[in-house]
Amino acid sequence: MEIKEFRKHAHDMVDWMADFLETVDQRPVKPDIEPGHILRQLPDHPPFEGEAYSKIFKDFQDIILPGMTHWQHPNFYAYFNANASPPSILAEMLMSTLGAQCMIWDTSPSAAELEEQVMEWLRQMINLPSDWKGVIQDTASTATLISLLTAREKVTSNDINEDGFSGQKLRVYCTDQTHSSIEKAAKITGIGRTNVVKVATLYDKSMDAAALQKCIQDDRNKGFIPMAIVSTLGTTGLVAVDHLDEISKVGKTENVWHHVDAAFAGTAFILPEYQHILNGVELADSFVFNPHKWMFVNFDCTAYFVKDTEALIRTFDILPEYLKTTNRGQVNDYRDWGIALGRRFRALKLWFVIRSYGVEGLHRMVRQHIELAKSFEQWVLASDQFEIIYPRHFNFLVFRFVSDGWTESDLNAVNKQLILRLNKSGKMYLTHTILDGKYAIRIVIGQTYVTYNHIEASWLEIQKMASSIVNEFE
Ligand SMILES: *Cc1c(COP(=O)(O)O)cnc(C)c1O
Repeated sequence: MEIKEFRKHAHDMVDWMADFLETVDQRPVKPDIEPGHILRQLPDHPPFEGEAYSKIFKDFQDIILPGMTHWQHPNFYAYFNANASPPSILAEMLMSTLGAQCMIWDTSPSAAELEEQVMEWLRQMINLPSDWKGVIQDTASTATLISLLTAREKVTSNDINEDGFSGQKLRVYCTDQTHSSIEKAAKITGIGRTNVVKVATLYDKSMDAAALQKCIQDDRNKGFIPMAIVSTLGTTGLVAVDHLDEISKVGKTENVWHHVDAAFAGTAFILPEYQHILNGVELADSFVFNPHKWMFVNFDCTAYFVKDTEALIRTFDILPEYLKTTNRGQVNDYRDWGIALGRRFRALKLWFVIRSYGVEGLHRMVRQHIELAKSFEQWVLASDQFEIIYPRHFNFLVFRFVSDGWTESDLNAVNKQLILRLNKSGKMYLTHTILDGKYAIRIVIGQTYVTYNHIEASWLEIQKMASSIVNEFE
């Protein structure tokens, strides 16, 4: 494709992009298709001769688009959001145009220095301790893996990096609510899944700090090496919030690395009214949150903060001849702050988003989501057809259909059907969780474009669908 042609297609595409964003709420959130539907429409072999762009774009519209789940649809209430926003999209366009590899300072000085500064802005925005440093990672899963690898090397004085395991039995502490990325990291780091200790939880599904301390002491007596505690602010199933100050104290007393996973809820901590949840973070060792979930920065952009930067770099740095530079040690070579060598220029989209909305604008947008969730909460509380089964945290609710005289297993069946049919209708996308045997609906009200009208229409639709399922059951 000649640049001349590229210019024309790019102009047309920007119009298409704006049209798409203005009308995305008229598309089904989730496609109602069977597995294999897209695959069947794709040629078995690659084209030998180049094809016209118009043909490629037509196939994108006819084949690919109908098979997309629209994460930018305002009625996307499933999982956690992966919010995009106009300034972030513009930055992504620049990033892909520059096509830069930002592995070390030399390969893109602006990328390294902008990353250093925007991560400092972000640190200030959520008020983490001033001596912590931030680095952008691709995902929270990677950041947690990095944290646990750093903890592993710290507790073994770099032995495993150098000589491999020699019988050390390392232990990681979390709860049964903790994200699966911790267990995955235990597999990858050589710690082993069976050495992930699930500490008991309290009534609110938060980690029991006293039980944590006992687990650590018992393990020490048995000859295990307690390596890391992972606490969560906003768990995946329920958005349960661990009591950070209590867990941090245990971490400090027992001298165990403490990683805080706030992948989703971290964005809420830009608001002063949620700052108290971070009490005790100054005693922790690392913290992760995903601006690519709720802070309007396109996937992927994970913010990883760490207290002991030297321990982080010691874990990952390696210096082959071809990466030697004249300024090593004076600049941040971010390849040493994580796993991959190659890095995208992700700081650019964070910079565009923070500058475009300002801290004030981001506060307003996040608060608005929380207000919408409060409205939804009021509707559920006022309804005798539905109940909330776990307290609302931030912009997130867990609720279910209920009816007197029904067995729990019938209720579970109705709620399961309800989610399936609402998702199939294309009008919204919801996912579920199970709490104490109860099948329940999770709703995350946090999409960039969601408004009061959207949630009001969705609530009506949920009630209507529940009534029609109940009619069939009776
Ligand atoms: C979403 C989430 C993760 C995983 O995030 P990725 O960036 O997709 O790896 C981890 N922990 C929690 C609590 C999450 O909500």
